[in-house]
Amino acid sequence: MLFSQFSLSATLLKALPASITEPSRIQQVAIPAILNGQDVLALAQTGSGKTYAYGLPILQRMSQQGISGLSTLVVVPTRELATQVMQNLTPLANPLHLQVDVMCGGEVIELQIERLSMPANVIVATPGRLLALIQQGVIQCSNVQSLILDEADRLLDMGFINDIKAIITALPAGQRLLFSATMPTALNELAEQLLSTKSLRIE
Ligand code: AMP
Repeated sequence: MLFSQFSLSATLLKALPASITEPSRIQQVAIPAILNGQDVLALAQTGSGKTYAYGLPILQRMSQQGISGLSTLVVVPTRELATQVMQNLTPLANPLHLQVDVMCGGEVIELQIERLSMPANVIVATPGRLLALIQQGVIQCSNVQSLILDEADRLLDMGFINDIKAIITALPAGQRLLFSATMPTALNELAEQLLSTKSLRIE
């Protein structure tokens, strides 16, 4: 199978690194479902190609809808992963005239607040700082259509469950995607609350 067999724009396909030719297993299953607007719960290790599995269809949908302003939140457990996700998604987003930004704890909040006067279309963030910015009214979530929890098991291991629940409460209804290397009971419970009954489970 080839990436060109998905309903992805030529601009997006051209923006993929030349080394990426065949979709991985998770990409083959997740990309069409996410393009269709389905919620997804995916068991996916680092190295499985999970970032493109959610990044490509989310960016495609945003570009198709001609969205402006903040539309997608990617919540990750660590600053390192946030940087990695941003580095993967920015070269795909920019040719579509979409912007990606990172908001993590440990960074100067005033600088983040300044950047949020013109928010990116996709924000990749760690939970504590994201929640603080939402609660201060600096991040406006009223048009956020998609929430992605990446490395969801690590988010729970690191004790972010209450922050995540508070973030979810601040969002309007929309598409929900959970990617996780393992599926502990607590994550199954969160998935049951968070995902639509028509969600796709990829194991
Ligand atoms: P991830 O699982 O998203 O952390 O991706 C791990 C690495 O695999 C990254 O360096 C990606 O660039 C690479 N990658 C993602 N999808 C593919 C693919 N279909 N073929 C080859 N490499 C890929």
